[in-house]
Amino acid sequence: MKYYSLNNKAPEVSFKDAVINGIAPDKGLYFPESITPLPDSFFDKITELSNKEIAFTAINQFVSDTIPSNILNEILDNVLDFDFPVIEIEENIGTLELFHGPTMAFKDVGARFMAQCLGYFSKDVKNEVTVLVATSGDTGGAVANGFLGVDGVKVVILYPSGKVSDIQERQLTTLGKNITALKVNGTFDDCQAMVKRAFLDHDLLEKMKLTSANSINVARWLPQLFYFMFAYKQVKSKGKEIVFSVPSGNFGNICAGLVAQRLGMPVKHFVAATNVNDTVPEFMRTKEYLPKPSTATISNAMDVGDPSNFIRIRHLFEDDFDTLKNNLSSYSFNDEETRKALIHIYKTSGYIADPHGAVGYLGLKKYQERHPNTFGIFLETAHPVKFLDIVEETLSVQLEIPSQIKKVMGKEKKSTKITSYNELKAFLITS
Ligand SMILES: *Cc1c(COP(=O)(O)O)cnc(C)c1O
Repeated sequence: MKYYSLNNKAPEVSFKDAVINGIAPDKGLYFPESITPLPDSFFDKITELSNKEIAFTAINQFVSDTIPSNILNEILDNVLDFDFPVIEIEENIGTLELFHGPTMAFKDVGARFMAQCLGYFSKDVKNEVTVLVATSGDTGGAVANGFLGVDGVKVVILYPSGKVSDIQERQLTTLGKNITALKVNGTFDDCQAMVKRAFLDHDLLEKMKLTSANSINVARWLPQLFYFMFAYKQVKSKGKEIVFSVPSGNFGNICAGLVAQRLGMPVKHFVAATNVNDTVPEFMRTKEYLPKPSTATISNAMDVGDPSNFIRIRHLFEDDFDTLKNNLSSYSFNDEETRKALIHIYKTSGYIADPHGAVGYLGLKKYQERHPNTFGIFLETAHPVKFLDIVEETLSVQLEIPSQIKKVMGKEKKSTKITSYNELKAFLITS
């Protein structure tokens, strides 16, 4: 499988080079040259398959030119060693819990998959690869955890000072070894802009091999399509049309869901639920894409004003607005609505959601007002404990701290403060 740049001004590359480059030399995101639907029999018999068998079949066409089957099997063994349950909380509504991994947010699968691929590829790359990544909260922890101890790979994480939760900060600043955290005086967009600038800095690139572990990297992005298939397997027997509501920030997760649909999985509709960072809901309303600075919210992993992967979604639909609209709706909700949803879910079903899941729930409810006879699944993208203060205060409950989180609570946070791109560059060159 070749990957081409969405800016069309860079050579096509293999999966391996797409992973190592992160972003194409013309600044475009890589996109697979084809998406061949899986046979109907795969989806008919999906309930008989293990998660690993599903994942192998789903991802193989995208990676097989550079990852042999036996290695892919090993990678998937390491990546998929936890559960992805769908919990029914109301009639026709289930939540797909994606937080049972080591850092308790859905990014664990993509981050581990990418780390394993890069570890495999860097066996025959002479120089060390530096993974540079911006995080709005959860990416950093998942990437730090996934790459910890991977030979030949150094990880540098940029996060916005004061805008990630205490637990999130601990997850990315306490590991040490090949992981370094940089605390940026600015927003997530500032962090992302610095990372993008580094990838285009020829002077820097001559000195080191840099790649990205944000969802712009195909190895981070594509494995997320597994979730949708794992969910489908669990609810197929209901015999209803399925709707996914995905709490969205950089739009990588939902874009992977749309790839699962393109692979032939029967899905009626996708809902991209956002907080007040509503660039995409506004696009779906006005057909105009107007990125804006991000606003801080209680669902901070979605505080993105210019979602990188939306361009992949538009491309998947050949930039045809009407076809896109038939498959995707997008709604935005503010913090007050999100808190009310947390309370509503807790009161009616006893289920404790996190603020991101609550936004997903709201998006689903809104869609189901007009499509009541569907089975809706909203993605619980993080464990509520990752947003401890907000959830405990909103619901007047006390959450039990899971062992994965307890492990980092007592450790000392270590990070370096930076305020500008030049400081980032100096850090990368000298460290
Ligand atoms: C990253 C993240 C999101 C947003 O996912 P995208 O793929 O960037 O749209 C939503 N919720 C949580 C908890 C996250 O960590």
